[in-house]
Amino acid sequence: MLRQYELVDRVLAYDPDADEDLLNRAYVFSMQAHGSQLRASGDPYFSHPIEVAGILTELKLDAETIATGILHDTIEDTVATPEQIEKLFGAHVARLVDGVTKLSKIEGGLTANERAAENLRKFLLAMSDDIRVLLVKLADRLHNMRTLHFIPSLEKRQRIARETMDIYAPLAERIGLYGFMDELQALAFQQLEPEGYDTVVKRLEGLRAGSGDMVARIASGIRLLLGTGGVEADVRGREKRPYSIWRKLQAHRIAFENLPDVIAFRVIVPDIAAAYRALGLIHQRWQAVPGRFKDFISTPKRNGYRSLHTTVIHSERMRIEIQIRTAEMDREAEFGLAAHWAYKAGGDTSAPARVAYPWLKDLLDAVDQAASPEEVLEHTRLAMFQDQVFAFTPKGELIQLPAGSCPVDFAYAVHTELGDTCVGAKINGRVVTLRTPLANGDQVEILRSKAQHPDPAWEGFVVSIKARAAVRRFVRQQERAELLAMGRKLYDEVVGRLKLPLSEDAVDAALGRLKLADRTALYLALARQTVGDTALLEAVLPGSTANLKPKKRGRSGPKAAISITGLTPGVAYSLADCCHPIPGDRIVGVGRAGKGIEVHSIDCAHLAEPGESEWLDLHWGDETGTGVARVSAVVHNAPGSLAALTAILAHHGANIVNLTLTDRDRAFHNFVVDMEVDDLAHLTNIVAALRATKAVVSVERVKA
Ligand code: MN
Repeated sequence: MLRQYELVDRVLAYDPDADEDLLNRAYVFSMQAHGSQLRASGDPYFSHPIEVAGILTELKLDAETIATGILHDTIEDTVATPEQIEKLFGAHVARLVDGVTKLSKIEGGLTANERAAENLRKFLLAMSDDIRVLLVKLADRLHNMRTLHFIPSLEKRQRIARETMDIYAPLAERIGLYGFMDELQALAFQQLEPEGYDTVVKRLEGLRAGSGDMVARIASGIRLLLGTGGVEADVRGREKRPYSIWRKLQAHRIAFENLPDVIAFRVIVPDIAAAYRALGLIHQRWQAVPGRFKDFISTPKRNGYRSLHTTVIHSERMRIEIQIRTAEMDREAEFGLAAHWAYKAGGDTSAPARVAYPWLKDLLDAVDQAASPEEVLEHTRLAMFQDQVFAFTPKGELIQLPAGSCPVDFAYAVHTELGDTCVGAKINGRVVTLRTPLANGDQVEILRSKAQHPDPAWEGFVVSIKARAAVRRFVRQQERAELLAMGRKLYDEVVGRLKLPLSEDAVDAALGRLKLADRTALYLALARQTVGDTALLEAVLPGSTANLKPKKRGRSGPKAAISITGLTPGVAYSLADCCHPIPGDRIVGVGRAGKGIEVHSIDCAHLAEPGESEWLDLHWGDETGTGVARVSAVVHNAPGSLAALTAILAHHGANIVNLTLTDRDRAFHNFVVDMEVDDLAHLTNIVAALRATKAVVSVERVKA
């Protein structure tokens, strides 16, 4: 652990005018406040803020920021209050400590998503206030990652590593703090992909062992080349970080041996002219790999990064990456934004709240113009949040929703009942339609009415799972109510045909025979036609249709194939519903768009309709199967009439496929019966038998 004087000396080394007293008081205050608290490592807790302050001195930050590092956990983890901090260390430090505290406060107790979202929001708010808050938080996270292996819980380690990979490393990258980014990624990678990490490290070791001190040899070769060409350069070689190799292995699906650029070299030159000269010398000596040259000096990256990049073919099997930059650019690349925060001798040492640095100004502007935080997200490349939208309740509660969500999604996210009864919404005080997409930062007030129900139309525009499920559930309930009403009607009608008052026991017995749980299930089954009229009659009054079972004809079932000649092979056809042609009828075919050929009997009334296309002359083939004929029968309204009718059909082996009571008065009942018959002759016999029966008044075949 850094001692007090060591820490102060480090700051004085780069900023002789630093507020020594502030640092000393912060050190003592923090040590006393944290008292005997311990870290997971067993070290005194106090060692953590001091190490964080130490990391911040590497960035050569001002005394206020260093003091903030020392004090950053006092409000959160000790009895110290913000008022105390302000009184003792001034408003600037108090505001910074408060900013860092806000970032940490929400950890724990929330789900991963809530925590991440909340963190992000607070981050943006805190960063917009003072970017130094972010620098302290990143140093804090870096030290926590360095000591992560002391935490016993695997789950906790992985959660912290995941958060580091998803939020902190990208933020470090965004502000150009590549040194932090590299280390954060390496530590998180080790935790998240222990096997991957081991593999890459082992392979790197193998590579090193097999090639002797290859890195040093190539580096001195480059130095010699440049020196001969008149460019004084400092050449450093380094292997790529395991995590960056791992990412390349993942992204390119190639073998380790084929992975180019495992070794990278950095060439530090005195000035920009020397950088381009060095590039020329290198390209003359080794062949450049096309497409790999990038000039970030004439066109810096948005985060301010400047350098020349190229990849050359160094030897038969090896390509090496070379970065060429000045010392100043190198420092910027390592410390990013922080490089501009560093004390500059003779410069203005007053607290630089907002530095004039192009990308930072952009970022802060974007945050300031809070209308579009998604722009900030874009900048910070926190891809995990780009499919999210964050909105607020009137009370300021944060609601996280999938992007594209509307007020209905919002209402359901707050409470199911609020969703069910919402009728309108106000976004930022303005009345909007329920399908208005929400934007980040919107404050949403839901207008509700107790009389409202979920509208099936909502399903067309809600995007959240919760809202979608609620609307579907409601629609299903509605459909069920309608089905039940329909089923009840069918039941009354069918059972009414029996002309018998049914006892509860009889109904229960019928339910048992149909293997249905209760009347509701029966109504639904009738409405869905999983239980037909005859099945119900048979269940209620066994034997009433007993003889209706089709006689076994050795064919596969009621809808055996029929063959018709005169059709082009392969053309789809169907027997018309209007005239129900059966084998033996004279038939013709009519083409219907999208339906193939409809087969009608020649005397079907529908054939007379105008605009009908040409008739195809058809004939029944040999494999005639069965047809479904429709007859209309009027019977006396008397007990046993229906039974008499069905008995005849059963006797003749005609399978009833549908039986509908179409009309009834005091004297007569009119049934329409659809029955499977072999052919016209079969039907003619049945009709004759029916006409011969006393119970039957009249029978006609229905052909339209
Ligand atoms: Mn901390």
